[in-house]
Amino acid sequence: MPANKEAVIALVTGVDKPPELSNLELPELEPNAMLAEIQAATLCGTDIHLWHSAGKATPYIPGHESCGIIVEKSGDRFDVTGEPLEIGDRVIWAYPFCGECFYCAVANQPTMCPNALRFGREPVAVYPHLLGGCATHQYIPARSSVIKVPDGVPSELAASASCALRTIMHGFERLGRVPAHETAVVQGTGPVGLYALAVAQSRGFKKVLAIGAPVSRVAVAKDWGADATLDIDEVPQRKDRVQWVMDQTGGRGADVVIQCAGSMAVSEGIDMVRAGGRYLSIGEGGTDQDISITPRAMSVKMLNIIGVRSGAGRHFYEALQFLKYGKFPFQDLISGTYPLDKVADAFNGMKSMREVKAAILPNS
Ligand SMILES: [Zn+2]
Ligand SMILES: [Zn+2]
Repeated sequence: MPANKEAVIALVTGVDKPPELSNLELPELEPNAMLAEIQAATLCGTDIHLWHSAGKATPYIPGHESCGIIVEKSGDRFDVTGEPLEIGDRVIWAYPFCGECFYCAVANQPTMCPNALRFGREPVAVYPHLLGGCATHQYIPARSSVIKVPDGVPSELAASASCALRTIMHGFERLGRVPAHETAVVQGTGPVGLYALAVAQSRGFKKVLAIGAPVSRVAVAKDWGADATLDIDEVPQRKDRVQWVMDQTGGRGADVVIQCAGSMAVSEGIDMVRAGGRYLSIGEGGTDQDISITPRAMSVKMLNIIGVRSGAGRHFYEALQFLKYGKFPFQDLISGTYPLDKVADAFNGMKSMREVKAAILPNS
């Protein structure tokens, strides 16, 4: 048990209310559980969406993207490569899938597990209480896959790997083989889009095109090696954007379009895919919005539409390896850092889009 027996936590107490600081006794560990001291918790659009909507779960500790140092453990634990985990190891960890439901045990699609706890939204009143990253400490459940963070990968980036980048790794796994003649379009130049752009380049696409806004993010996509970029503020008409993709792809459309921009982008993105191509939908923003797809797009065009949700331990591991060895200025994605008593400012920065990706440093 750490010397300090209490955690300091940020709490969302109601819809859109500024998160408040509170204290909570550190919980007893179940067998094989661990406790981490949080080094960084990054925020994404999901945190803001939950803040606007998660009235039933309040109060809860926000933050589902965490990197921490193990300060307590119960029993022997191992990381996803079989290495023993020790006090002092810097780690990230997956949602604890139950291992026993249809999705875990039969379908081998654990990210659909209905019994998993999901961090950054569970009611703080329910044991083990510390399930959000905006706190000095977070509980690592016994069933969570745990991944050691390689030296040289900053904690803020490791935290972001535990959401955006692991989902992208899962998405590319579902996308499958990429023949060397293929062209990809990435819709979106936020953190998810930029990570997807980087991964797409590493997977051997002949060309990777990026579409996004504002101009500063499009410039980052260009710096990160996009073969061509389109600023949607400069090209406001959907049909002109689709035509741009056609012009870049010999009139056929892209072999693969990767949606990292939210559901608003889906039907436009489908128009950008060539006949017989693949549409990989990663971005979740605006999930309540209906999209229409014509039967022509589904069958006559022979589209393969691939959805992806979250990731399992191997995707987290792959994400961290990519951060370690990928030749991209990943630190550009972290737009601001905040201490724990400024979580409300970080939330407002994310809400107003002033921040691209804010990091909370609860123990700084
Ligand atoms: Zn996230
Ligand atoms: Zn399950």
